[in-house]
Amino acid sequence: PKTASPDIRSLAQQLRAGQRAALARAITLVESRRNDHQAAARDLVQALLPDTGSAVRVGITGSPGVGKSTTIDALGMFLIEQGHKVAVLAVDPSSARTGGSILGDKTRMARLAISDQAFIRPSPSSGTLGGVAAKTREAMLLCEAAGFDVVLVETVGIGQSETAVCDMTDFFLALMLPGAGDELQGIKKGLVELADMVAINKADGDNIKRANLAAADYRSALHILSPRSEHWHPPVETYSALTGAGLDKIWQRILEHRTAMTASGEFAGRRREQQVKWMWSMLESRMMARLRADASIRAKVKRMETDVADGRISPAVAAEQIAEMLR
Ligand code: GDP
Repeated sequence: PKTASPDIRSLAQQLRAGQRAALARAITLVESRRNDHQAAARDLVQALLPDTGSAVRVGITGSPGVGKSTTIDALGMFLIEQGHKVAVLAVDPSSARTGGSILGDKTRMARLAISDQAFIRPSPSSGTLGGVAAKTREAMLLCEAAGFDVVLVETVGIGQSETAVCDMTDFFLALMLPGAGDELQGIKKGLVELADMVAINKADGDNIKRANLAAADYRSALHILSPRSEHWHPPVETYSALTGAGLDKIWQRILEHRTAMTASGEFAGRRREQQVKWMWSMLESRMMARLRADASIRAKVKRMETDVADGRISPAVAAEQIAEMLR
């Protein structure tokens, strides 16, 4: 790759030194839609690539109200007490539509927000889900280069965003509530098939018994699914983000998973696959962007769409002709 501009080299240097302002600026560059910013961001990420990859990357999902932000606040503080530096990022599928973000909001993580060992960044607020996810993944790399050794990526339980977060993390944690029934829906929706662990939150006070019952239900439901790895059967744990009870167990499981996956070679394999997947995903969005950017191509594609709809041209011929326009 060509060498980066002096500006980018000095930004990379400040970022490597752990300067928060540099990290924030770098992420802003990654999120920018301006062509020159995007080119600079590509150089920056490429320059920092050797400094990335060592963090524990954890995806966290769950329906609104399950306690994601409370959990991230408590787990993050638990990890900081152990000497870790924690970055919190978010992929908010609704932000792509509405431009607003409910995830990764600092006010929802009161203790982490004021810790200098934590860095919280809300979901990028524009673009397609694929674009939002790709930018979040690059932000994750920047956080790693800045010395954050645990990255928590939050998302909300809507199919595609979960797959995207699963594709950028090493461990995917599904949070559930006590009381079966509704929660077992997660299994039908395929969510639990992505999960490396199911954790039932709010196991405190009167809820403890219901949480244990829910855990038993999830365990038997998970039994009938074939696990993604023969070296890891997703455990089901209960905990309380409010009291902190059980958080240590959750972190323990995440580390056990890492050890088992590293030993079997799946850890490196998963990272390799993910990297290639992102290349294709970014290439796809670039091709789509080219289709949309050129007004004459846009108009031709629009006419072609009508021809396909009316049955004058077969979809295959239309696809071929559109692909020709991109050459
Ligand atoms: P999110 O929408 O998934 O981020 O959920 P929040 O973290 O905002 O939590 C939703 C509500 O559940 C809040 O009122 C929290 O105080 C409460 N909550 C979160 N964790 C626990 C817990 O472990 N026990 C109890 N009893 N309440 C909790």
